[in-house]
Formats: sequence, structure tokens, C-alpha cells
Amino acid sequence: AAKAAGKNRFAFYDQSMTDHARNMLHLRHELVQGIQEGQLLLHFQPRVDLRSRRVCGMEALVRWQHPERGLLMPGMFLPLAERSDLICLIDHWVLETARKEMLPLAEFMGSIRIAVNLSARDLYDSEHLDHLLSILKQNFSHGGVLLELEITESTLMQDVDAAIAQLHRIKQVIPGVRIAIDDFGSGYSSLNYLRRLPIDILKIDQSFIRDLGGENPSAEAIIRSIIELARNLGMRVVAEGIETESEALLVQGLGCDEAQGYFYSQPVPMDELIGRLDRNLTLSQAI
Ligand code: C2E
Ligand code: MG
Ligand code: MG
Ligand code: MG
Repeated sequence: AAKAAGKNRFAFYDQSMTDHARNMLHLRHELVQGIQEGQLLLHFQPRVDLRSRRVCGMEALVRWQHPERGLLMPGMFLPLAERSDLICLIDHWVLETARKEMLPLAEFMGSIRIAVNLSARDLYDSEHLDHLLSILKQNFSHGGVLLELEITESTLMQDVDAAIAQLHRIKQVIPGVRIAIDDFGSGYSSLNYLRRLPIDILKIDQSFIRDLGGENPSAEAIIRSIIELARNLGMRVVAEGIETESEALLVQGLGCDEAQGYFYSQPVPMDELIGRLDRNLTLSQAI
């Protein structure tokens, strides 16, 4: 009986695996079609300069308006896209669309910075990098909308020497582009590599913010040392995932330059964000 049950369990497991594979294939098919049919859209989340309290840039975050399942967050479809070239198609679409949507604001302001996330494939595949460079050149060579590229710490650490070379190429093609390390502190970066990478900004991972102000002082100690490190290397520091006023005051006190999070604004469509910005680029609900 035990043997039979084991066998059944195996059969069940096997069946669920094929179901999973079939679902993934179906989702991939829907995503390809969705991209062609214009179902991707962008939400923008402002980044606030902690000294002036003004919006100093935005991050573009992709969403998928699925015809039956509603608005899907990147966690629902980017991991699948990242298994193939599909992610590059998405990231190129994001770069072009983000610039287009930012243009009116950039014209009004003179200039404004947009941060866009890159994936490992964008950076490490030389064919994709050539394509990426041509998209960057077409869209960000004229000023107005200034570009920041966010790359996660773990992506950069996959192949640091290649990352250094590719980032230098990007910086050569787009003068004034800034490079940010996203989710900093969540991976394992060597401080020696950090010195060699042409990085302008460190975005402290949300997990440290979540742990701030509790009993355990270690999150605060880590943020302090990240800031000191950034200062010594000439980088700016952004605190991600700020949800409350007390978190905003804490990271400001610790010396962060900029902050981003639900306390200031959720990621929202551009129209909505523009409606909340006054002439001085201050958010109507911010402190
Ligand atoms: P990320 O680049 O670290 O973006 C920050 C994520 O944290 C976003 O999730 C944002 O909505 C969320 N967030 C912002 N403020 C808060 C807060 O106060 N509290 C909490 N709990 N969360 C906050 P989202 O939009 O679901 O994006 C998840 C990740 O997907 C992004 O993390 C980024 O790595 C990736 N991603 C998003 N758009 C793109 C894209 O166009 N291309 C690529 N390659 N990756 C993207
Ligand atoms: Mg990011
Ligand atoms: Mg992040
Ligand atoms: Mg992230």
C-alpha cells in the first residue's frame, strides 16, 4: 500500500510539473501577444530629495494589463520574461515609453531624470547590449529627459569584469547617464569591486528600512556604513521603501540624499502624478 501511495504521489507530482510547464508556456504566449497588442503600461514612482523635499526624479515600473486577470505586477511575469530574450524586448519598450511619457514634464521643468531597471540579459549578452546602446542613443542623447539605469547588486555581481566594461560603454554613448545599484545590501558584493564599478548611486534595499527603529540596532548600523561608504566613493544614497514619516525622518537623519516609497507616493500613471505635483515639483501630500 505504501508503495502504491508513493507511486501515486510521484504520478501526481509529475502531473503538476507538466501542468506548470504548460501554464508557463501559455503565459509566455499571452505575454508575447500582450506586448504586440499594447497591454504593457508604466507606473511612475517619484523620488524625493530629502533636503529640498522636491521630486528629483521618477522610477518607471512596468505593469501588464492582462485582458482576464487584471493588472499584473512585474513579479507575476518578469521572471518568465527573464528566461528568454523577451525581457530585452520589454526593457526596450520601457525605455522608449518612459521617455515619451516624461517629455511634457521635462519640457516644463527644463529637465528631469527617469530611472529604468535593467536585467542581466540586457547587460551581458553583447548582441543585446548593441541593441540597447542604439535605443539609448535614439532616446537619451538630446537632454531633457535624463537617464538613470538601475541594476541590482546581484546582477552586477554575476560577472563584475563584464559589468565594468559594459557600463563604461553605456557611459561613453550617453554622457550624463547615471548608474544606480538597486537593492544594495541584499546580495554579497565585494567592496573591492564596488570601487571599480562606475556607479553613481546606491539604492539601499527595502529590507533595511523595514528593520529600522525596532529593538535591533543592526539595520541602522548597516545603513550608516552604506552611507559612509557611498560618501567615500562619491556616490549618492537613495532609501527605498519609505512607508512612514518616521522612516523618512530616520533616513534623513542618517544622511540619505533621496527617498522613495509609499509614504511619498505609490507608483501611479503619469497623469495622476502630474496632478499631484505643484510648480515647485513638490508633492501635494508629502511632508
Ligand atoms: P525595484 O526596482 O527594486 O522597484 C521597487 C519595488 O518596490 C517596486 O515594486 C515598487 O512598487 C515597490 N515599492 C515602492 N515603494 C515601496 C514601499 O514603500 N513599500 C513597499 N513594500 N514596496 C515599495 P514592483 O513595481 O512590483 O517591481 C518589482 C521589481 O520588478 C522592481 O524592483 C524591479 O526589479 C523589477 N522591475 C519593474 N519594472 C521593471 C522593468 O521595466 N524592467 C526590469 N528589468 N525590471 C523591472
Ligand atoms: Mg529599481
Ligand atoms: Mg529596489
Ligand atoms: Mg527589487
